[in-house]
Amino acid sequence: MKPVCVLGNGQLGRMLRQAGEPLGIAVYPVGLDAEPEAVPYQNSVITAEIERWPETALTRELATHNAFVNRDIFPRLADRLTQKQLLDSLNLATAPWQLLANAEQWPQVFASLGELAIVKRRVGGYDGRGQWRLRPGEQDSLPADAYGECIVEQGIHFSGEVSLIGARSHDGETVFYPLTHNLHEDGILRISVALPQPDAKLQAQAESMLSAIMNELGYVGVMAMECFIVGDNLLINELAPRVHNSGHWTQNGASISQFELHLRAILDLPLPKPVVSTPSVMVNLIGTAVNLAWLSQPLVHLHWYEKEVRDGRKVGHLNLTDPAEKQLAETLNELSPLLPNEYQSALRWAQKKLG
Ligand code: ATP
Ligand code: MG
Repeated sequence: MKPVCVLGNGQLGRMLRQAGEPLGIAVYPVGLDAEPEAVPYQNSVITAEIERWPETALTRELATHNAFVNRDIFPRLADRLTQKQLLDSLNLATAPWQLLANAEQWPQVFASLGELAIVKRRVGGYDGRGQWRLRPGEQDSLPADAYGECIVEQGIHFSGEVSLIGARSHDGETVFYPLTHNLHEDGILRISVALPQPDAKLQAQAESMLSAIMNELGYVGVMAMECFIVGDNLLINELAPRVHNSGHWTQNGASISQFELHLRAILDLPLPKPVVSTPSVMVNLIGTAVNLAWLSQPLVHLHWYEKEVRDGRKVGHLNLTDPAEKQLAETLNELSPLLPNEYQSALRWAQKKLG
């Protein structure tokens, strides 16, 4: 089996490496500190776990490599301007938006987008960073360097957020997981719930949107599509050309995880639809030190990234999977006193989703 080199060496690269191991696929996440001699990049397939990567001699080599799958798609999706243009060109619903070129535009922006404007950096934002929520009169708080470098979107009053994770093979076949329900707090994903029987209409809508995108791009591998639910419809929030935080539950809740699915797709291995027969919950660990008491819960799978714990930083996640929704809800109860205050409302939200 061909080795795989991953641009970036964060937790997504680490989990791709873990997924490759049982299949005999050697995966080499490549960060700033990589030793070029230790990475067999000449005869590897190249992928990425981030949309933009630090420049080194080695990452330049990888980024221009002929076997870099989706190479030209990364810059197109990494820039919110070209990503939004792609959605518009496919007539796919997304939050109404425009380029924010200068401060004189504000009256027109509020007139056409409404009274809550969400300004987002075109490149480089993540976990809600590089974003401003502005109402009329608040636009002066925006730094001057934002103009020309940002888009502005309508603030959407959604009833919920979901994401669809899917994959496309070299010969154009697509497979999808059931929609994942996501709760974000301060722009960062706190908790996800996936049910084996999603709402059939929303699922079909989401699959047809993501299929259109992946087919248009000729994309190969796993892609994530984040959506807002408004009424009976989905609005696309954003796309990620990679494995995604909201798909982490698949490590324990699907017959093929999103990480394995991505490796299979880029290596042209069989790509059956992953089987999902039980509900799952994923709790993101954000700036929270590891607590071994979590492990006393038999349904808890701890995935710890071995990163330094810092405020607002994703340092691990807990996956819970069980056929009985009651068992999952009960485990969330047991976890509640073992997690800080800021997790409590999210735990209750997840229990409600489990019904
Ligand atoms: P990540 O990469 O971690 O998914 P991000 O920093 O790229 O996040 P977005 O996904 O664009 O940012 O936004 C983060 C969250 O902020 C969304 O999941 C949603 O909760 C909220 N948000 C973003 N855009 C809008 C919008 N137009 N209207 C209402 N809420 C929004
Ligand atoms: Mg997002």
